[in-house]
Amino acid sequence: MQKEKVFEVHGSLAKIQCALGCHDKLCDDLEIVREMLDNNIDCHIPTSLVPICPVCKGKMEVNLRKDAFFVEDDNWHNLNDNYEKFIIENKKKKLLLIELGVAYNTPSIIRFPFEKMCLRFKDTTLIRVNDKYLDMAFEIQDKAMLVHDDCGSFINGLLNS
Ligand SMILES: [Zn+2]
Repeated sequence: MQKEKVFEVHGSLAKIQCALGCHDKLCDDLEIVREMLDNNIDCHIPTSLVPICPVCKGKMEVNLRKDAFFVEDDNWHNLNDNYEKFIIENKKKKLLLIELGVAYNTPSIIRFPFEKMCLRFKDTTLIRVNDKYLDMAFEIQDKAMLVHDDCGSFINGLLNS
C-alpha cells in the first residue's frame, strides 16, 4: 500500500494529539500503546505512562475528528491538497467514489461532499456501503448504488472475487 496516498480525513488511532489542540504536531502512538499494554494491571496503567502534551502539559487524545480540537497537521494538509488536486484533475473523467461506513457524526466531511460530486460531475458514480445508514439524496439515486453491508465484509468480498 502507498501510505502517502491514504488520506485519513478523520484522523488516525495510530496518532495522538494535545486534547485541546494547543499545537499542530501529532505523535505516533504505537510504542506508547505497546508500553501501556505491557504494563497494564487489571486494565489500569501507571500514571507515569499517561501521555502528556509537551507544550501545555495537558492531556493527550487520539487524533480523531470528534470535537473542535481536532488537529490537522502539515501531513494532513498535504494529503488534503493531493485529494483536492485529484478531484479537480479527474472530475470530468469517469470517477467512482466508494464510501465505506460513513454515518452522520460529521456528514459534511465525506457523505455530503460525495453526494455533491456525484450530482455535479457528469460521469461520477457513488457506491455507498453501510450497514445502518443507507439513505441517499433523491437527486442522485440513478447515479448511485447502495450496498447494505459492513465495510469489512464488503472489502473481503472485493478481495475474494
Ligand atoms: Zn497542549
